[in-house]
Amino acid sequence: MINSKKIVLVGHFGVGKTSLIRRFVNNIFTEDYKVTIGVHIFKKEIEVNNTKLTFVIWDLEGKDDVEKVRKSHLIGTSGFIYVFDPTRNTTYNNIDVEVDYLKSNYPKAQLLTIANKVDLIDQKAFRQEVNFPIDFFTSAKTSENVEAIFNQLGLNFLTNG
Ligand code: GDP
Ligand code: MG
Repeated sequence: MINSKKIVLVGHFGVGKTSLIRRFVNNIFTEDYKVTIGVHIFKKEIEVNNTKLTFVIWDLEGKDDVEKVRKSHLIGTSGFIYVFDPTRNTTYNNIDVEVDYLKSNYPKAQLLTIANKVDLIDQKAFRQEVNFPIDFFTSAKTSENVEAIFNQLGLNFLTNG
């Protein structure tokens, strides 16, 4: 069990958290939108640098404010994936505060910031528009960079515990 890692996707409603997980775990994508109610938990084994890791991925109901997410859902998290939608600025207006909150409350956890739906935007122009760090631009629709996020988390776990 030592190589089992809890990963939680956080971010507003409709940014693509469920879609990213379904793409990663089942390699599927659908346009229809079903709001996540409560919590869904997925499991997937990955191998990084010849080490097997079991990712236990928590898909939470979207909340406009990460402080409103139940603490009991976040406890024991090894890696956060903070997802926003670059086509809707309400999903990233407050990102600095949200990310700071996670970093100060879960200092040992890894955290990646993800701009999803990159298939809908000009990535270069967007990077110039905003001034917060973005680790990956992904698309659950085309699958661009979806594996890359989870591999990066795996690498971070191996190097930083
Ligand atoms: P969640 O509320 O964060 O779990 O968001 P969902 O995964 O349910 O996705 C919300 C909507 O955005 C759905 O209609 C998806 O089909 C759509 N969506 C998710 N990811 C992408 C993406 O990468 N590109 C595009 N074009 N649409 C996406
Ligand atoms: Mg969802």
